[in-house]
Amino acid sequence: MQYPEPIAKLIDSFMKLPGIGPKTAVRLAFFAVDMNEEDVMDFARAFVDVKRKLVYCSVCQNISDHDPCPICDDSSRDHSTICVVQDPKDVVALEKMRDYHGLYHVLHGVISPMDGIGPEDIKVAELIRRLEDENVKEIILATNPTVEGEATAMYISRLVKPIGVKTSRIAHGLPVGGDLEYADEVTLSKALEGRREL
Ligand SMILES: [Zn+2]
Repeated sequence: MQYPEPIAKLIDSFMKLPGIGPKTAVRLAFFAVDMNEEDVMDFARAFVDVKRKLVYCSVCQNISDHDPCPICDDSSRDHSTICVVQDPKDVVALEKMRDYHGLYHVLHGVISPMDGIGPEDIKVAELIRRLEDENVKEIILATNPTVEGEATAMYISRLVKPIGVKTSRIAHGLPVGGDLEYADEVTLSKALEGRREL
């Protein structure tokens, strides 16, 4: 069956989203046909805004609608501690637990030679630059407890040691091979508490 062009296009677009197969895409496209125009415009605008209005914080590399982001800009936070994570979603997870008051650095990935991702492909250089400029005393390496996450933490720790900044690694409570983003707040809090020096 041939769909009218606008519907066919919308189906194709929905199928580009993760977890959406052809059946769901068709269902969503026809749902959109029945939506009122105002809701459709709101939806479209929200979609465009995540591309147009978001910037990368020039300090921590997190996505934000301001540069520097509200966390880096907050003078009540502890600017001597940086928690290094691999994904912006990890910042959200750690902020939810409310007992970390330092700053963050988002790597946007981990080193993975199998996938051809080297240190220059993630925001490592930006992190090292922060250590030279700022009064940073400790770095908490909170990459995921996967092989790549561990290797990335080790790599950064070796790089940071000569600068004289203490590095620690979150440890207890997080399942090996797990994803920081999906850990509950208590587990995350314990992991942070039980960090060990690298
Ligand atoms: Zn920032």
